[in-house]
Amino acid sequence: MKLLLIVLGFVGIPYLIFAQIDTSKNPPIIDMHLHSYPVEYMGESNIPNPVTGRPSGAASDEELIQATLLEMHRYNIVKAITSGPLEVVYRWKSEDPKRIIGGVYFDEVTSLPDMEQLQKQFIAGRLEVLGELVAQHVGLPLSDSLFEPYLALAEELDIPVGVHTGLGPAGTPYTCCPKFRVTYGNPVLLEEVLIKHPKLRLYIMHGGWPYLEETKAIMSVYPQVYADLATINWIIPREEFHEYLLGLIRAGFGKRLMFGSDQMVWPEAIGMAIEGIESAKFLSKEEKRDIFYNNAARFLRLKETGE
Ligand SMILES: [Zn+2]
Repeated sequence: MKLLLIVLGFVGIPYLIFAQIDTSKNPPIIDMHLHSYPVEYMGESNIPNPVTGRPSGAASDEELIQATLLEMHRYNIVKAITSGPLEVVYRWKSEDPKRIIGGVYFDEVTSLPDMEQLQKQFIAGRLEVLGELVAQHVGLPLSDSLFEPYLALAEELDIPVGVHTGLGPAGTPYTCCPKFRVTYGNPVLLEEVLIKHPKLRLYIMHGGWPYLEETKAIMSVYPQVYADLATINWIIPREEFHEYLLGLIRAGFGKRLMFGSDQMVWPEAIGMAIEGIESAKFLSKEEKRDIFYNNAARFLRLKETGE
């Protein structure tokens, strides 16, 4: 990996490497949950991957972009909803405008985007998704008035909305985010937003884990709601993820579950997340294709088909 990243440091070289990766045999994948973070987003670079314990090896923002794009090519990820600080999203998008779909990230450390600017960027297609919205990290439900103008804008412009639900890293309120509360990760709290904005194209990020019953309740009453399986497909124990996924499939939501990686500063997490789905023995080939591509293509209303 180290050698590869040194090579990747030279402008122009990445595309030569991409060209050598034959993805033609791999069916296309849509990643509904990717992040374009600066490499030091978590305080410093080379933070160990929480599962493998190994640092990513990406020492600069540029190396992180190139290593992530390389993984996307390797697995034939044809589109990735990519959110982070806006200037970084635009930097990533300039590198691969067809695959990188701009998303709007809100959390405690990034200030709220200017409404007028946001509207312009949505209309211009530079940004296409409102999310990841992480109201939980600022100790608020999504129904708080802080988010209301943004949700109204998304509904008006028919922009998909991705909402963080469920989990946070161990010790979150003691470290980055003192206002974070487990309580606000409950997908049931999305209900008032869905009532107020019935046309909102909303998806539950992280599949609502560990709130299986509540996620089922919301998805069954609100058939427009989709969910991504990001992070839980690689960061929690595999058996627990499969049990949870099986619960959602059994409840009949196989046509509304979407692949996501939640790659943050570890490009290898993309492959780990794919493996989390591939290793689910209870999924049929068709169900896997739905999760990896078809459901997201329908949700995003993409014209081309993945088959
Ligand atoms: Zn999240």
